[in-house]
Amino acid sequence: MADLRRCIGSTRFGIATHEAPAEDFPAQPSQKDGLGRMCKTHWNQYAAGLARDAKARKAADGGTASEESPTESETVPAPEPIRTRGMRGSKAVVPEAGSQGDAG
Ligand SMILES: [Zn+2]
Repeated sequence: MADLRRCIGSTRFGIATHEAPAEDFPAQPSQKDGLGRMCKTHWNQYAAGLARDAKARKAADGGTASEESPTESETVPAPEPIRTRGMRGSKAVVPEAGSQGDAG
């Protein structure tokens, strides 16, 4: 007797929800019941879709397709400058949080 389990699918990648036997789901310890929320087939499709998206985003970002960039500057929220009451003549100079690599 196989328990039917709902595969949540993904509207983002055009994967419809459906029911499948629990044995079709990959083990996922982080889930409450220890099973993934998508069946193996769709999970693979989903993962592949995510990878494709990431690649596309990277390509749109820099144009290069190199995968080794340990110091990738993601969108890091810059800390807001602290406003002190009463101006003290000179403006506070905030160091730019941009890329300071040499031009090449
Ligand atoms: Zn599925």
